[in-house]
Amino acid sequence: MHLETLAVHAGHDIDLATSAVTPPIHLSTTYARETTGAEHKGFLYSRYTNPNRAALESCLAALESGALAAAFSSGSAATMTLLQAIGPAHVILPDDAYFGSIRLAREIFGPWGMDVSTVDMTRLENVRAAMRPNTKLVWVETPSNPLLTIVDIAAVAAIAHQGGAACAVDNTWGTPVLQRPLDLGADISMHSTTKYLGGHSDVLGGALIFRQNDELAQRTLTIQSSGGAVPSPFECWLAMRGIRTMPLRVKAQTASASALAEFLASHPKVEAVHYPGLKKHAGHAIASRQMSGFGGMLSVQVGRSQQESMDIAGRLELFTYATSLGGTESLIENRASVEGPATRAPANLLRVSIGLEHIEDLKADFDEALGGR
Ligand SMILES: *Cc1c(COP(=O)(O)O)cnc(C)c1O
Repeated sequence: MHLETLAVHAGHDIDLATSAVTPPIHLSTTYARETTGAEHKGFLYSRYTNPNRAALESCLAALESGALAAAFSSGSAATMTLLQAIGPAHVILPDDAYFGSIRLAREIFGPWGMDVSTVDMTRLENVRAAMRPNTKLVWVETPSNPLLTIVDIAAVAAIAHQGGAACAVDNTWGTPVLQRPLDLGADISMHSTTKYLGGHSDVLGGALIFRQNDELAQRTLTIQSSGGAVPSPFECWLAMRGIRTMPLRVKAQTASASALAEFLASHPKVEAVHYPGLKKHAGHAIASRQMSGFGGMLSVQVGRSQQESMDIAGRLELFTYATSLGGTESLIENRASVEGPATRAPANLLRVSIGLEHIEDLKADFDEALGGR
């Protein structure tokens, strides 16, 4: 079945008790059992699983053709749980991965014996050179945050597998609509469902989708249920509600982002536009191969300083100056100001998340804020 159909139907069963078409939210933390201990419907205690989380997880697995999926209370909780499952070993991350992912590996898991290398993954020889006998995980993030660097997922997965390591892809910006890491050979696809899957800036969540039900998947599930970094039934319900329209939203956001990127790239007051859909983008060829669209995120360098870029952002009327992405409203943010001294973002870089407003209104807003041509 096609993604649009799966987004509407996977994990959506008519409620047997009431025939409700829209699934109910099961807030109960505990479920009645036989005195023998046998469960009536497969549910025991809400941290282990519950009807809303089970539905979300089966939907997530279906979206990227995984064997199974695990839902978490945030994208970061998903990453944390996977790193816990990997344990004290060597892991490789891209040097421009989401700063929170690098911080988790380095600052939180470093003291527990995790050895962390960060490399520029656009050059495959860097990944090969970083592999060690105890490398257990190679983490990919593409397109990356905030420079939209593109990494060849199939090639990195092959290098990881050669060295006996698993390959995980942070697919938050790729979305299940535009990029399918498991089909490209990755073992795990990770999402901050807070972004495009939830899609309305109203629910935090994370997900890990596994290609195979292997030892690493089982260990992750054990940590998920015993560690308990899980979403509530209502949060699962909201994520499911968002997923139904995700394919349509992401396509519309991608079309607008492409048009805005072209518009800004030819604007005399713009220094640079980072968008993999632009032919001169360094990752354009690989992105064209491994994505079915270039996504709703772009970064733009404007003004001669961090402050000037922020002043331009402040003159925009339709783009709210706020962090996060993937919602229905357009957002903009100077990343260097958020990420601090360790940032790789240029000082005047503004990261833009395109919403569902009309593209002509978005273009006019930018033109106005830039002070015209
Ligand atoms: C937001 C984000 C995360 C973290 O997810 P949370 O839900 O905020 O914990 C991880 N990776 C990427 C690429 C993100 O954009």
